[in-house]
Amino acid sequence: MLQDFRRFVLNKDSLSVATASKIGVAPQRFCDWRWQMKNQITTSTAAARFVTLDDDERTAFADKTLARLFNVAITPYAMGLMRTTHDKPCPVRLQLLPRQQELHDRTGQADPLHEKPHSPVPEVVHVYPDRVAFCVAQLCPIYCRFCFRKRRDAEQGLHFNRTIIKRGLAYIRANSRIKDVLLTGGDPLIASDHALDNLLQQVRAIPHVEIIRIGTRTPVTLPYRLTTALAQILAKYHPLWINTHFNCVQELTPEACQAVSILLQHGIPIGNQTVLLKGVNDSVSKMEQLLRALVRARIRPYYLFHPHLVSGTQHLRLPLSVGLHIMRALQGRVSGLALPRYMLDTAAGKIPLQHQYLLQHDSHSAVVENMHGELWREQLA
Ligand SMILES: *Cc1c(COP(=O)(O)O)cnc(C)c1O
Ligand code: SF4
Repeated sequence: MLQDFRRFVLNKDSLSVATASKIGVAPQRFCDWRWQMKNQITTSTAAARFVTLDDDERTAFADKTLARLFNVAITPYAMGLMRTTHDKPCPVRLQLLPRQQELHDRTGQADPLHEKPHSPVPEVVHVYPDRVAFCVAQLCPIYCRFCFRKRRDAEQGLHFNRTIIKRGLAYIRANSRIKDVLLTGGDPLIASDHALDNLLQQVRAIPHVEIIRIGTRTPVTLPYRLTTALAQILAKYHPLWINTHFNCVQELTPEACQAVSILLQHGIPIGNQTVLLKGVNDSVSKMEQLLRALVRARIRPYYLFHPHLVSGTQHLRLPLSVGLHIMRALQGRVSGLALPRYMLDTAAGKIPLQHQYLLQHDSHSAVVENMHGELWREQLA
């Protein structure tokens, strides 16, 4: 534990030390993930210790209707990622601070992916024959305003619920076509080491499960959760993959990179799923900075999701043309390793989207468009 603490504060650019001293908390405490969870920011008064709020943000914090639509809670660490003044837009604020616009969404839906009807037993979403998303968690270090599972927030007791886990495991055990179990939520790493060890052991004991995946935003929201002790537990259940969720370059702090590096040292490959969001990562240059920073941190960009049609997010959604344009501009301009696939996530499954590069083809030749937008005829036979 002490070793983990040092890892987070020794870096000269440590955000932990700066944020901890700002609010008068000892860095060692600040780097304790349980302290972070106990001290989540839920009011404008608490938030004002970190940043200056604008009127809209202040009012939204106190709005009861908005609070019913979706939880508000933010770790002190994540508060430290925000611009402290509100003179310029901040991509982290847009993701985490509530805004009154959330109440003015005319078209958003509670469950845009129809996950409920796709769940044969509670919290096991079975859309693809060979894999399931198993929503074992309900709590998160922060509540991203665009979360497509915000509907689950209204229910109680979904977090590491024994009955849900027991029935979910029984379903997976009984379906030998399931080769890939994606543990998600909520954030599944918000549980004790013991609870995670126990759950992973049971999943790994199912003979037909080949890979285990965990979807977690902790590298972004609570990097202190990724201790050496946890990485050692996860590594007992290989092949285990983690997908995380960075949305802007500001989130790739030394702490986040350290946390990711511990997982990599334990043989856990890290992928990244980004959600395309207005004001956060909606330009070629913002996306390029994010993708380059990800590969420098040895995180492989996996998917770029078009924003879901989820309630309270109209102010963050944008047209498909924006995503297609960004992906087209980056093709050939950044390493192939840095390019995610742009996905439209639908109730009928995920659909990859891209600009049409192949214009014409027969068995002898193909007419294609290159990275400069020029036509090229390639002889094939
Ligand atoms: C996204 C998703 C998965 C995982 O899909 P991959 O494309 O393999 O990453 C599995 N099940 C459900 C229901 C999903 O929505
Ligand atoms: S961390 Fe993930 S599950 Fe939690 S609120 Fe954010 S997007 Fe939703």
